[in-house]
This record gives sequence, structure tokens and C-alpha cells, in this order.
Amino acid sequence: MKTAPAPLEIVAADGFELITADGRRLIDGMASWWSVCHGYGQPHVVEAVQQQLVRMPHVMFGGITHEPAERLASRLVTLLPGDLDHVFFADSGSVAVEVAMKMAIGYWQRHGKPTRNRFVAFDHAYHGDTTGAMSLCDPNRSMHASYGDAILTQRHCALPTDEVSTEVFARLLEQRRDTIAAVVLEPLVQGAGGMRFHDPETVARVRSLCDEFDVLMIADEIATGFGRTGTMFAIDACDVVPDILCAGKALTAGTMTMAVTVARQNVFDAFWSDHAEDALMHGPTFMANPLACAAANASLDLFETEPRVQQAREMEAQLRTGLEPCRDLPGVVDVRCRGAIGVIQVDRLPDVEQLRQRFVDAGIWLRPFGDCIYMTPPLNLPRELVDQLCSVVVTEVTRAF
Ligand code: PLP
Repeated sequence: MKTAPAPLEIVAADGFELITADGRRLIDGMASWWSVCHGYGQPHVVEAVQQQLVRMPHVMFGGITHEPAERLASRLVTLLPGDLDHVFFADSGSVAVEVAMKMAIGYWQRHGKPTRNRFVAFDHAYHGDTTGAMSLCDPNRSMHASYGDAILTQRHCALPTDEVSTEVFARLLEQRRDTIAAVVLEPLVQGAGGMRFHDPETVARVRSLCDEFDVLMIADEIATGFGRTGTMFAIDACDVVPDILCAGKALTAGTMTMAVTVARQNVFDAFWSDHAEDALMHGPTFMANPLACAAANASLDLFETEPRVQQAREMEAQLRTGLEPCRDLPGVVDVRCRGAIGVIQVDRLPDVEQLRQRFVDAGIWLRPFGDCIYMTPPLNLPRELVDQLCSVVVTEVTRAF
């Protein structure tokens, strides 16, 4: 085998299924990396994108604005808590994180504190693949470990889940506050760094320590946003308002590439002045692409007209029951579920390629990664398909161990 196995050719995606080149239909247990939250080919989304394609597929977003972007921004700020009122359109999740970092550094520069240009992130963090975002990823566990010293590494520490780790985190903020621009956190679920969960109190603790030591808080909701954890945003369950929030993936229902970085009023105010040099300089070519905005607006319509978030909440119980038989298998370390996320953590992943092939042969698409076999299906995956997904996983994981 070379560094990667041969990819599976997919020729179409229909509803909740991927269709392979040789005509098989696979239930998509990944929702194409958390993004296809309503399933594939939702007529309302398709129609919105088609109409926008005819009207105006793209226009630059410098010195120009357009209705799909204006409407999307105003809907997002209505959905988000507190004064998270200012939306910056990025073109991918990683870029949204880069923008958040630039906002945080720029905020302190404009407050006369240019040494506050470093970040604190957490063990097991994953925030994207561009170089700034990479610097926030856990250097020991992330897929970027091979870059070593070539990439700047920010400071990492354990999540403040108990008294000891809270003490360590607080001490770090206290001692290094003059150099720290922001703390960056994936609220409730750390994704690609290990599919690890923490509770709302931990998120609230991060917020209150950021307040105590006057450090900005960035919530990376690129994976957790739009219903995935059982509330529209994970922070909704934590009763906190971060200073900056990133969202992406399911923003456009998985149809177009777009993400957003949303800032609170205090952050926005730092860049809003009579001096042109105070502006936030970041202008990707496809910023606020109208097709992506149309898809995102149509997706938000579906969140309004259908009980999508409730469906994610209900899926949690079903995943819990369905995956429970794995708990007692040798090699299984943990089985955990939150919203529309199911994770089986193992002490050693068996032959991943063989396992993936067995999943495909049994009619499902999952991509085990790290030490986890995990699923993040469309939030509205019908109950019988959730059962089918779980039953194949239980059978194949049992066989593998
Ligand atoms: N942040 C988190 C928490 C993510 O899960 C991801 C992607 O998996 C990213 C950032 C990067 O997003 P993208 O892959 O769209 O660049």
C-alpha cells in the first residue's frame, strides 16, 4: 500500500446515499465531514443555488455588497447570542480561523498592545490546515505533527475540566497575559484531534477565566455549528458569548465552500475608525460568494421550517442505544454520543483499510480516523437508516476485534 489507499469513486449523491461508480448505494454516515446537514439534493437548496447561478454566480465583495450576503449576515447575527453582530465572510473553515486570529492580534494592536500576538489552544485541538490554523492544532496528536518546528506552535494546555487543570490554565493566563491575544476552543466537541467531548461548564469556565485575565475568547464552531450537538450552536448549551466565533461546514448545507468569522461589537469597534489603516485587511477572491450565500440562506430556511435541531437531539439517544453493544468489546476504550455524533474509541485501530472496505461492502460510508470509528450523519437521517448504520458498525467492529 502507498501512503493512501485508492479512493472510492462516487458518481452521485442522492438523499442520504452516495452512489459508487459500480452502482452501489452507501448510507453516508459522515455527511461529507459534518457538512451535509439536510442530506444531499434538498430541492429547496438546489433551487436557490440554481436561481442564483442564473442571476449572479459571483461578484467581488470589495466595495460591493449584495442581497444574499446582507440577508445571510442579518440572519446569522439573529441566531447567535449576545452582540456577536459582525459577520466576516471567509471561503473555508481554516480561513475563518485565520481571520479570527488576525482579528484578535489586530484588536490588541489597536489597543496599543502589540505584544499580545500569541494564542492558547487546548490539547487535542484541531482548527484547520492552513499554517496559522495549524499552529493551534495539538502539536503532539495532530495530523500536522510531521512539520515539527517548521510551523509556529502556539501554547497548548489541558482543558480546564477539574480543579487541577483549571488552576494550570488560570496560571498560564495570569503569567502570560501580556503576550496572549486569545484562547481558542472547540466548544463541547473537539473534532479531528480525537472526537473528545467536554461539558458546558468547562466552556463557561474558559469564558470566565478569559474575562478574569482580559483575554479574548474564540469559539471554533466550524464542526459543531448548525445543530450538530443538539443546539443550533454548541455555545447555546453553555450560556456563553465568545468574542469571536467561527462557523463553516454545515453553513451552506454542504453545497458550497464558505465559512464565517463573527465578531462582537468590542472587536468590531477596534477596526472601525476614521483611519483607513485600521481596517481589517483580508479579502479573499470568493469572499461572500453569492451562490454560497444563497445555499446558506436556503439551509437556514430548512432549519426554520423543519425540526432539524430537535432531530439531532433525538438521534443522540438512538446512537447511544445502537452503539452500546460495542462498549464491552475488547479493544474498545469508550463509546460516546452527543447530538448527531457517535464515537467508538479503540486502543488500536485494526486494519483501517479493511474495516472501511467492510463498511462499504455492508452498504455504509464511514472513515475511521486516529483511534476513532465515528459517525456524523445528516441531522435528518431517518431512524431506520440510523439503526442500519449502527448495526453495521457493531457487526464489523465486533468482527475486527
Ligand atoms: N475547525 C474545526 C473545528 C474543524 O473541524 C475544521 C475542519 O474539519 C476546521 C476548523 C477547518 O475547516 P475547513 O476544512 O473547512 O478548512
